[in-house]
Amino acid sequence: MINEDIRSYFPVLNQEVNGQPLVYLDSAATTQKPIQVLEAVKRYYEYENSNVHRGVHTLGNRATDSYEGAREKVRKFINAKSTEEIIFTRGTTESLNMIAASYGRENVGEGDEIVITYMEHHSNLIPWQQLAKEKNATLKYVELNPDGTLSMDTVKEAITDRTKIVAMSSASNVLGTINPIKEITAVAHSHGAVMVVDGAQGVPHFKTDVQDLDCDFLAFSGHKMCGPTGIGVLYGKKEHLENMTPISFGGEMISTVDLYESTWADLPWKFEGGTPNIAGAIGLGAAIDFLEEIGMDRIVEHERRLTQYAFEQMAKIEGISIYGPTDPAKRSGLITFNLEGVHPHDLATALDMEGIAVRAGHHCAQPLMRWLSCAATARASFYIYNNEEDIDRLVEGLRNAKEYFADVNE
Ligand code: PMP
Repeated sequence: MINEDIRSYFPVLNQEVNGQPLVYLDSAATTQKPIQVLEAVKRYYEYENSNVHRGVHTLGNRATDSYEGAREKVRKFINAKSTEEIIFTRGTTESLNMIAASYGRENVGEGDEIVITYMEHHSNLIPWQQLAKEKNATLKYVELNPDGTLSMDTVKEAITDRTKIVAMSSASNVLGTINPIKEITAVAHSHGAVMVVDGAQGVPHFKTDVQDLDCDFLAFSGHKMCGPTGIGVLYGKKEHLENMTPISFGGEMISTVDLYESTWADLPWKFEGGTPNIAGAIGLGAAIDFLEEIGMDRIVEHERRLTQYAFEQMAKIEGISIYGPTDPAKRSGLITFNLEGVHPHDLATALDMEGIAVRAGHHCAQPLMRWLSCAATARASFYIYNNEEDIDRLVEGLRNAKEYFADVNE
């Protein structure tokens, strides 16, 4: 297990909510930030604040060094070949939209196929839906096994020589399912399709090596891995990015501008039009340092043990339904569930009264909710700062809510 000291780096955890010590179980929505990240952002604004790339003065150079230094940290973290392949964006949603709007528009035509799954977050669904409509292409959904996993046979059936793009999450934000991205990428490539990975729930939780996966694109968000909001990453293989047209035009992304023609800056800057989120990128760099110091292997082990413990404890509650794979080794650190007779929103409100933060709703995955035959669910998600005591508090809160609502419903 990760050392208890880790909690002390997260000031927000050290408070009471509704008269009880806070138990934060909503990290799949956004994680808390350690002091190392808060201090990196503060330090930038206090000592370096300046615009990047164009300054000849000292502060401008300091800001540029820190910003580009953060890009190198991201490169190393996901093992990209070059920083030319690392584009800073606002987050996963923007990264995926950029791929659809640029690579998608240029490479998908009438009758072509885009393959996704039923478990995708709206961010990895709507951009493809829009692209398919615009191009008269077909959006194909890979069916899920009853336990919410993907079967390679079904994946292989769905991907054909007409497939141009396969877009899948490395881990589901609802089911927790971890998908076999490396194998799926090989199938996509064998049909000449590119592989787009939504790494929003994967990159923060387990080692993601883009060269090992051989994926063509990877999108993820800083705020789900201890970094600030408003910063994310689009990784793309250089051979694709070089041929793609930018979608955001303006300052920072040009080489020359004439009255009627312009040329673009080199990679990665041609995709970073306008003043970027400098502080955000620096904060993300600090978050990566923090995660690497802990070690991604330890994070995996910690989450697996916590999820296993949560499973065992929650399964003892009568009337609980837990969605997704039953084998904790096949899922990331989250548990989506419903408690019979209690609406998930009421449940989340009741838990909040005890200082326990969980999420309730459709989790930006409405097609998946329909597949699960429910309108909404509750979700508890874990990260490095959670411990068994948090799970015990959750289980106690669930039992209290069950009793309370049983009385109210009588
Ligand atoms: N994909 C998945 C699997 C997610 O969980 C999320 C965030 N809930 C996103 C995409 C979108 O991320 P963001 O809102 O940071 O752009």
